[in-house]
Amino acid sequence: MIVGVLRETLPGERRVALVPEGVKVLVKAGLEVRAETGAGAAAGFADGEYEAAGARLEDRAALCAAADAVLKVQPPDDAEVAALRPGSALVALLRPLDEPQRAARLAERGVTAFSLELVPRITRAQAMDVLSSQATVAGYRAVILAAERLPKMFPLLTTAAGTLAAARAFVIGAGVAGLQAIATAKRLGAVVEAYDTRPAVAEQVRSLGAKFVALELEAGAAEDKGGYATSQSEEFYARQRKLMGERAARSDVVVTTALVPGQRAPLLLDEDGVRGMRAGSVVVDLAAANGGNCACTVPGETVVRHGVTVVGDTNLPSAIPRDASQMFSKNAVTFLLHLVKDGALHLDLEDEITRGSLVTRDGQVVNEAVRSRL
Ligand code: NAD
Repeated sequence: MIVGVLRETLPGERRVALVPEGVKVLVKAGLEVRAETGAGAAAGFADGEYEAAGARLEDRAALCAAADAVLKVQPPDDAEVAALRPGSALVALLRPLDEPQRAARLAERGVTAFSLELVPRITRAQAMDVLSSQATVAGYRAVILAAERLPKMFPLLTTAAGTLAAARAFVIGAGVAGLQAIATAKRLGAVVEAYDTRPAVAEQVRSLGAKFVALELEAGAAEDKGGYATSQSEEFYARQRKLMGERAARSDVVVTTALVPGQRAPLLLDEDGVRGMRAGSVVVDLAAANGGNCACTVPGETVVRHGVTVVGDTNLPSAIPRDASQMFSKNAVTFLLHLVKDGALHLDLEDEITRGSLVTRDGQVVNEAVRSRL
């Protein structure tokens, strides 16, 4: 079986789906690996490292014509879909619920496509969880960006030139990205507070040395059986926005990460909330790609509103491409090997991980949720 890794073509994307360390693991498992020339260059992995790990370098057309399975980070564009060989498999982030038409094109092309976002978040699949690994990088990066933009330092400093107060950071949403943002801000010396609708995370927030903000807000059933947040009433969100605004006014940095699966990100910091913040303060909105938690967010851009810098970067992991790729690659390799038996792809549709992530097969979109959006 031949596994290929393509160079990413989306502007600004610096990650690669398979790093040389992952090549070694696949080769050891008896698979043949081909890498597109320059596949890892933007992430800091030279072609020679791929060759040394056992991969053969090839151009895109030859690779796609030969590969039985192709690994990618970003969803393929139309040209990439057309280049894939009918009958081959694709493993990538496919945004299938947001962009179901791409799934339809992959089906039409006869590609067996697996969407890494759809890997069920069960304990057994933790090593395949791209959402968690990339959210970890995003949470870290968000705080580094904020520290760079903020006109003050994070730590409390007592010096001969006077005392500098510690920066105050407020993290809204304490899931995987939020917890990493809290840990990073703490390490830099900020005083950190965090809020989440899921009370279950309070202990995790405290264990990182941050304060869990208890708001006088009665969240309805805060989480589903998968541990994800559920959506709340508009009345709840209106009250939450007021309380978030009050907290934001006392903070130098606000990092928002709140998401409810399958929905637009809830609006948690409105224009008044931003207006109430001190000039020079920074908001980093990790939900920008899903519509944003902050009313002033412009997805993909950094803007200044009411004197506050609002960062709406939609691909934070790509800014730390080496580590983000290393983690992605580990996830993708673990996933691929889960599908391989005796050196070939073997799809066991009784298996929750395989069935859950499979989007197209035999010319059809087979995932119900994706099909219902076509
Ligand atoms: P996510 O990216 O979907 O959401 C981020 C956070 O936003 C969540 O903590 C959510 O509760 C919070 N949020 C939603 N609405 C909010 C609001 N109005 N105000 C404040 N916060 C709000 O979630 P995630 O980080 O991908 O994962 C969340 C949880 O899923 C984890 O903490 C864990 O319990 C579970 N999970 C399980 C596994 C596993 O078992 N393999 C892996 C990953 C995540």
